[in-house]
Amino acid sequence: MTENTRQVVIVGAGPVGLTTALALARQDIPVTVLEAEPGLTHDLRAASYHPPTLEMLAALGIGKTMHEKGYVVQRWQYRDRKEGLIVEWDLGVLGNDTEYPWRLHLEQHQLTRILLAALEPYSHARVLFSHRVSAIEQSASQATARCQTADGEVMVSGQWLIGADGGSGVVRKALDTEFEGFTWPERNVNISTSYDIGQHGYTFNCYIADPEEWAGLFKVPHLGPPGLWRIGFPVPDEESDEHALSDEGTQARLTRLLPWEREYPVAYRSIYRVHQRVARDWRRERVILAGDAAHLNNPVGAMGLNGGVHDAVNLADKLGRVWRAEADTSALDLYVRQRRTANIEFIQAGSIRNKRTLEERDPAVRAQRHDEMRALADDPVRTRAFLLGTSMIESVRRAATIT
Ligand SMILES: Cc1cc2nc3c(=O)[nH]c(=O)nc-3n(C[C@H](O)[C@H](O)[C@H](O)COP(=O)(O)OP(=O)(O)OC[C@H]3O[C@@H](n4cnc5c(N)ncnc54)[C@H](O)[C@@H]3O)c2cc1C
Repeated sequence: MTENTRQVVIVGAGPVGLTTALALARQDIPVTVLEAEPGLTHDLRAASYHPPTLEMLAALGIGKTMHEKGYVVQRWQYRDRKEGLIVEWDLGVLGNDTEYPWRLHLEQHQLTRILLAALEPYSHARVLFSHRVSAIEQSASQATARCQTADGEVMVSGQWLIGADGGSGVVRKALDTEFEGFTWPERNVNISTSYDIGQHGYTFNCYIADPEEWAGLFKVPHLGPPGLWRIGFPVPDEESDEHALSDEGTQARLTRLLPWEREYPVAYRSIYRVHQRVARDWRRERVILAGDAAHLNNPVGAMGLNGGVHDAVNLADKLGRVWRAEADTSALDLYVRQRRTANIEFIQAGSIRNKRTLEERDPAVRAQRHDEMRALADDPVRTRAFLLGTSMIESVRRAATIT
């Protein structure tokens, strides 16, 4: 069966695919999202939204619901395992730069559910689950996704097709472009505990530097109070996935970092390979990439999903103008230039720098970095400049300057 309608087809009902769908639906553009899984995934990955992302999602009408469910995190800490607290940053200093001078913590599987509910009133938007896209074809007038479903093969066509199908998605592969960059030798394990780490003076987001085993802490709402602390650690190449995920492995990591208990309650654990990659081409004619399909980065600084949402909103704006014949298709190349540049200059460079700072092995360099950080925190002008960078405000401003 072949469908052929005047619509935009989006592959992937992750946060980026659904954000793009909502941003298009709100412009009265018909949209079909194709998702391989039978329902929304329960991903234990992103959980932290930066100010520009909150501004964009609020403009799509979901800011209030997100804030009702999430944690507002205005202060975050940089710590060292041996030295303890180095600096506590206060995002309140960005009060003149953004309506949301904080991070919001909310698991990405909660965001996708909010996005799906927000799509529901739009009769011209639909999400088809259990539609696994296996190939993409395109002609001069349309792009078509070949989907495997329980009822056999289905072809879904649209005037434009957006690949938001994640890091190992088929759309980028169909574009036959390089996924340039590298994969880190170590993996990351995420361990969630209900133990109240906050009682020891830790803010809801902390990064803890260590030459052997750095850590990133995020308090997430989970099912409601008391929430969970999700802690990300590196896993060295020589350690097996099985050991890192075992009771012994997870308790060993927790008790090395948190000295207060002999055993911690563990709610979730998961392990990931970590990449720094950006697709060389993000668009071929009617097929365009966004989110993890276009770029991957390590999670230090929490920029991957945020950058994907920035792609989604930028792309939906340009595609909307092309759809209404207010702009020609060069607007789509501008999307690529803006977002690809922001990704390389800020998200790739920043996440690599963040990770290297956390894991610095040379004690003299580490001490110097800590001194620099403390000096920076004592200078309000430099503090604001630093937080404009880490909050991704600078990356969005930079993208907007690219013509
Ligand atoms: C450990 C870890 C922690 C992270 N923490 C953060 C954080 O705090 N902040 C942050 O900003 N980012 C973070 N990230 C990154 C973030 O999780 C990703 O950037 C984000 O999930 C990307 O969203 P996406 O919609 O592009 O892709 P995905 O979330 O991967 O969604 C892709 C969707 O496409 C579907 N799909 C795949 N193939 C097909 C197919 N063939 N046909 C149809 N559907 C298909 C999948 O089932 C999925 O639903 C983290 C990542 C990791 C690994």
